[in-house]
Amino acid sequence: KQLLRVTRVEDQELLKKALADLEENWKSQADIKEGVEGAIGNTPLIKIKSLSEATGCEILAKAEFLNGAGNSPKDRVALSIIHMAEEQGLLTPHSGDTIYEGTVGSTGISLAAICRARGYKAHICMPDDMAIEKSDLLLKLGAEVERVRPAPIVDQKQFVNLARTRAAEHTADPLKPGRGLFADQFETEANWRAHFTGTGPEIYDQTGGHIDAFVSGAGTGGTISGVAMFLKKRLPDVKIVLADPPGSGLYNRVKFGVMFDTKEKEGTRRRHQVDTIVEGIGINRVTHNFDVGRELVDDAIRVNDEQALAMARWLVEHDGIFVGSSSAVNCVAATKLAKQLGPGHRIVTLLCDSGARHLSKFWANREVGGSEDDVCLDQILNPKRDS
Ligand code: PMP
Repeated sequence: KQLLRVTRVEDQELLKKALADLEENWKSQADIKEGVEGAIGNTPLIKIKSLSEATGCEILAKAEFLNGAGNSPKDRVALSIIHMAEEQGLLTPHSGDTIYEGTVGSTGISLAAICRARGYKAHICMPDDMAIEKSDLLLKLGAEVERVRPAPIVDQKQFVNLARTRAAEHTADPLKPGRGLFADQFETEANWRAHFTGTGPEIYDQTGGHIDAFVSGAGTGGTISGVAMFLKKRLPDVKIVLADPPGSGLYNRVKFGVMFDTKEKEGTRRRHQVDTIVEGIGINRVTHNFDVGRELVDDAIRVNDEQALAMARWLVEHDGIFVGSSSAVNCVAATKLAKQLGPGHRIVTLLCDSGARHLSKFWANREVGGSEDDVCLDQILNPKRDS
């Protein structure tokens, strides 16, 4: 009544009707998340309509960029690592402990945000050829950031090795407050477990268990292994397919059982030596997180930069979906797989992060709607002509 009193006479009937409608359809949706940690997981599963129409398959994507702390699937991993360390007594909230991590960006951003919420410090070591937005974001989140030249894993200054060293130096230094913990996303089981208990079951529930294939790139391998381990347990016939950029050895590992066809040792080749602008996926060594689910990966699909760029622009143009490079790679691979399987199948993949995190690199090249993109997408959608 009070509201009606201040409403203009000519609008009162309109407002009365709107209020009555609201009252009639009101459903209590009380849903309060406990801090940013509570806003992690349960991401929407989105049907990518344009790709589904173009292939005759249902192509569904888990919108992981909507995770509530660092806006990528790494929120799940960072939280899982922190919880496990707290349970093991290795970290105590608000005690001055510092978490160290080697990351190309996403895990660092998730850790930095959750560290703020739980009273830790974050120290992030990352290669200096990643999009500048990522290190900027880390600094704004109050993380300490060390950007280092990309180097092979055998080099002690390689970003993952450096983070491990920095954590050990912290623990050994009596003048530093708290303890230093190396998060170790590549090797820790807390990584694949986050997807085994979160991403995998969510995909199963959201699809009612009706899935023919799951497609994902691998950086640490935690996503593909964790999801594969859960889905294959429930659905033994589900196909698990790796999406892999050029320069990564995982494609050969899955297809032929070897990382390289030359005599080079694992881990000595630098993925960055191959000119790819895709960030976060593709690696030249078998990490624990990839190894644990390796036997469950049925096939691999190569996706090059040109295809990823064309797909990223297609998704904006047709679906209003603005994503980063690894998401685009996933969607190319999902589309290629749809063409292999034929119409009527349901394929699930991941949209890992937003294009906003890739403005200066992946998104910096061409404008949406270029004719090169059309040719490239035509080749993806008509694989007979794909070389
Ligand atoms: N996409 C992005 C943007 C990433 O940063 C990463 C991880 N580095 C991945 C995908 C791959 O996920 P995973 O580490 O679980 O293999």
